Amino acid sequence: MTIDLRSDTVTRPSQGMRDAIASAPVGDDVYGDDPTVNSLEERVAAMFGKEAGLFTPSGSLANQLAIRMLVAPGQELLAETNSHIVRAELGAAAVFSGITTRTWPAIDGVLKATDALDVARPDSGPYLVSTAAIAVENTHNFGGGTVQSIHEIAALRIGADEMGLALHLDGARIWNAHVASGVSFSDYGQYFDTISVCLSKGLGAPVGSIMISTKERVAQARIWRKRYGAGMRQIGILAAAGHYALDNNIERLADDHRRAKEIAIALSTIDSTLIDPADVQTNIIVLDLKAISLTATELATRCREAGLWISAFGPKFARLVTHMDIDDAKSAEAIEILKKALVA
Ligand SMILES: *Cc1c(COP(=O)(O)O)cnc(C)c1O
Repeated sequence: MTIDLRSDTVTRPSQGMRDAIASAPVGDDVYGDDPTVNSLEERVAAMFGKEAGLFTPSGSLANQLAIRMLVAPGQELLAETNSHIVRAELGAAAVFSGITTRTWPAIDGVLKATDALDVARPDSGPYLVSTAAIAVENTHNFGGGTVQSIHEIAALRIGADEMGLALHLDGARIWNAHVASGVSFSDYGQYFDTISVCLSKGLGAPVGSIMISTKERVAQARIWRKRYGAGMRQIGILAAAGHYALDNNIERLADDHRRAKEIAIALSTIDSTLIDPADVQTNIIVLDLKAISLTATELATRCREAGLWISAFGPKFARLVTHMDIDDAKSAEAIEILKKALVA
């Protein structure tokens, strides 16, 4: 039996979710006729205190539609150096929207408002690129699932308002941030002009993200979604999985966070240079292999041979993610495999 800690996207829909999918009322969403996707879009928008939402097949598309609404061709978006928008969407902002990006580095991806505001250059005239928007990732994926401080987000909003800049939240794992911090979705939502959230990460849906914003921006994004070829028909069957995920799978993320912490503690007792358990705030564990002789690929290969799948994202950078298909027994087994792989 394989234990898959590569990502929280590897979950399979539960029987309850499959039942919800099977019985969902549907219609043609390109005509606006699908009641289940319409209610999901309204529901998620309302959770974050926004006017409207748009279902997309992926989080990347939700991000790309959102930033397209905020940044004109030839303007720039600022984002953290290791953010998903910059590193893991294959240059989509440049390819599709003519948006350039400039980045600021942050330890573990943790937001400091001044880091972003210091590099912002709005209204740069006819010679230099003008900044139009700043993106915040919460939780920060490659930073190790770190939760952004609501105080820094509030400070970023004040600074952005002074400069006339828009703010986008890449909230693929905002559910994890909420469960770890206790900050409500509407508190997070109030600071951002556009938001993307993923239903197919920790919440266990097979497909789906929602881009949320004002009615006007969502109406525009709907046109662009169709233009990109992602106008979909009876997607109530996908939206039903999203409703089920929101009803059943948010609070249980605390279990994923506990197990990630337990794995981190176990690994740090083997070698404290690998990970500081205090850095594990949610469901992502990033291992720093710099002080040991193994590369991330070698570690991943050893683990795979023993039935554990993990990700190697850099020569010395490995990532493990807990999720709803990992219970206490699998988590304990993963720890045993990792221990053997690390000391062998
Ligand atoms: C997974 C993820 C996305 C979206 O990914 P898709 O695979 O396109 O759904 C966006 N942002 C972050 C931070 C992510 O981890």
